[in-house]
Amino acid sequence: MKIKLKPILLAIAALFFLPPKGASTDFNQQLCDSTLRIDYILSGNSNNQRIALHKLSATPGWAGRRVNLDSLPMRGNGQLELLDAATGKRLYAMSFSTLFQEWLTTDEARDCERSFENTFQIPMPVDKAVARLVLLDERGDTIANHSATIDHSDILIQRSKPDRLPDFRYISQGGDPARAIDVAIVAEGYQADEMDKFYTRAAEAVESLRNHEPFGSRFNDFNFIAVATPSADSGVSIPRLNEWRNTAVGSRFSTFYSNRYLTTPNVFHLHDLLQGIPYEHIIILANTDEYGGGGIYNSYTLTTADHPGFRPVVVHEFGHSFGGLADEYAYDGPDIIIVPEQIDYEPWEKNITSLFDFSKKWADKVDSSKSIPTPAESASDTLNDIGAYQGANYSTTLFYRPAVSCRMRDNDIDGFCPVCRDILNQLIDFYTVSSK
Ligand SMILES: [Zn+2]
Repeated sequence: MKIKLKPILLAIAALFFLPPKGASTDFNQQLCDSTLRIDYILSGNSNNQRIALHKLSATPGWAGRRVNLDSLPMRGNGQLELLDAATGKRLYAMSFSTLFQEWLTTDEARDCERSFENTFQIPMPVDKAVARLVLLDERGDTIANHSATIDHSDILIQRSKPDRLPDFRYISQGGDPARAIDVAIVAEGYQADEMDKFYTRAAEAVESLRNHEPFGSRFNDFNFIAVATPSADSGVSIPRLNEWRNTAVGSRFSTFYSNRYLTTPNVFHLHDLLQGIPYEHIIILANTDEYGGGGIYNSYTLTTADHPGFRPVVVHEFGHSFGGLADEYAYDGPDIIIVPEQIDYEPWEKNITSLFDFSKKWADKVDSSKSIPTPAESASDTLNDIGAYQGANYSTTLFYRPAVSCRMRDNDIDGFCPVCRDILNQLIDFYTVSSK
């Protein structure tokens, strides 16, 4: 029996989102070798959503991309732009998904207000600029926005240094942080005397990623740095068993009452722990054999390291948090999401389609002699025979996936489907290769 992967209700879309016309951003002229961290509180309910600025802080060095600064690789469920205050020109942009927007789809959000922490890191602008954050609905319409003026000489931008860095170790070093994609692997639920076990698990996570294309052939484009953040208690919180632990990032299962869904509400503290470490993406390894995890695009992957499914699951969740890939599975039984019988939009995630406008997805990769959608049974090669197979994104009927199976669908298959491999490869190019 296949192990079903945990649902992530939000994840990606097509197309490059191009910047406004004008010369592209010159990192050395318009941005500093310094990181501006912006902490936001996202709050509200299913009817009203708000964004509030919580804190600005700055640290020396910029580990993020220095190419394609003013473009977006995919739409996401939200975007953060840095705009020059004098000209309005876009200097930098990033897209993301949030746990807050996932929560908005739950019953609880109908009659309760809640708040969620979100942290983003962008390069510090040389001149006065505006940081504009937008949250988007499934059609790409804005549901909330916030603008803040950024002046790098502002005395209230916090510039404290960490008291002391946690112990860390490069599991793999592909290159200079200014060029490579920097992934921090964070210890969660490991006491100080359990760090040998943590480093072993971190190395296993990296090895599992390396065994998946395109990560294997692009391995030197990544740095993986394991950060030994100690916890007071061993293990993580499992609410359904009334087991609560005092851990580094305070993660817990049963997010939105889904027992396998492991997340942390303490996003600000997570980033506090990493201050001084060059990182762009985060993988949190939880010291438990309980099955579960979660991955949120450009936020974090969080997965359990002692479960037998650890190796495929950490790659699956990284597919969400790094690649912005959607889940390619549906649930047996009734659909869990409430949607109309037909969908009159394309989801933004690049590895699923509603067939509303399939030309924006992988239609050009489908053998034209085959009808679309192709029934799953027709595929001779379950991983590589590209079509549009019904059942994905938690629905058995409304969404279609590129292949019968994929790492984004089940734990037993060998790797990503060809469409996901292409998406990930293009994303690695986006972060590392100038398109100019
Ligand atoms: Zn796939």
